[in-house]
Amino acid sequence: MDYRRLGNAGVKVSELSFGAWVTFGEQIGEEDALRLMQTAFDAGVNFFDNAQSYAAGKAESIMGAVLKRTGWTREAYLVSTKFYWGLKESVNQENTLNRKFLMKGIDGSLKRLQLDYVDLIFCHRADWDTPIEETVWAMHDIIESGKALYWGTSEWSAYEIACAIYIAEKNHLHKPVTEQSHYNLFTRQKVEGEYARLFRDRHYGNVIWSPLASGLLSGKYNNGIPADSRAAQPGYEWLQQSGITPARVDKVKQLVPVANELGSTLAQLAIAWCLKNQNISSVILGASKVEQLQENLGALNVQEKLTPDVLKHIDDIMGNKPQ
Ligand code: NDP
Repeated sequence: MDYRRLGNAGVKVSELSFGAWVTFGEQIGEEDALRLMQTAFDAGVNFFDNAQSYAAGKAESIMGAVLKRTGWTREAYLVSTKFYWGLKESVNQENTLNRKFLMKGIDGSLKRLQLDYVDLIFCHRADWDTPIEETVWAMHDIIESGKALYWGTSEWSAYEIACAIYIAEKNHLHKPVTEQSHYNLFTRQKVEGEYARLFRDRHYGNVIWSPLASGLLSGKYNNGIPADSRAAQPGYEWLQQSGITPARVDKVKQLVPVANELGSTLAQLAIAWCLKNQNISSVILGASKVEQLQENLGALNVQEKLTPDVLKHIDDIMGNKPQ
């Protein structure tokens, strides 16, 4: 496992990390989460991603219980959480980045995670109703209080990120250090296009999510929807409707011979492809089973096989390389 700097920040994250979305508290409980996190940690993963809204707080509670049981030293790992959707408690506590929500939100997350501090807090989406200045001050104050060490954005526009950096610099506040973006073989435009200048000029970090497009790029949906898969979970019908389209499945099928040629699985190929982007600090993996995670960690060995010729071949198949 290699470790990459989180953008311009001094802290280093493992190039593969592990997250809790959909799985923790929905598909799996504490025992499976423990096995997954221990597998990740043993392979060198030092960064675990979570969010207040995942399974309505249950994902944080499970991760907190697991961390307590592992006995890992707190210095050895980083934990992140994210705020925006809230726990639907009242009008000022949902779909917002207002100060009242953020200052209370961090306390709830720390309690569920059983931690004194988290390493990273993300603004899970941009909030058009709250001035960016108010959010920047709140994130700064949380960091000053010692409850978090760094902060970042998730799915903000380049303009909104630039505004936040500018406001922080003008007022000598803690700046956001990283984005958390959707990035995979199907979704490239924002990371490779819109953010290019942020990476070049500001060395903004990026830890990316859904590297397998919710499992689609593992090839598991090539012949239908397996009953135990994410797309078959109640509440995830949208994935079948908008994510697993015949056109996308056809692209995945075209990638099969490329993976075979490299002696790789489809999932490893797709994850290794994300790792080739040097503007990415970490690729956040998701897995509902230990065998999936073990397979995906094998992507580390596939990276070097993605030569310029292979990458060009993949670009030709996908046909979506941003100009
Ligand atoms: P992926 O796109 O990699 O999807 C992971 C899912 O795909 C697994 O839970 C599993 O689902 C299936 N899968 C994974 N590996 C394999 C395999 N080798 N073979 C077959 N199936 C496999 O990542 P996620 O969408 O889970 O995102 C990763 C993390 O990113 C999240 O946990 C979260 O921390 C973060 N995230 C952040 C977001 C944001 O807005 N900032 C949004 C979404 C995620 P199953 O077995 O159920 O089919």
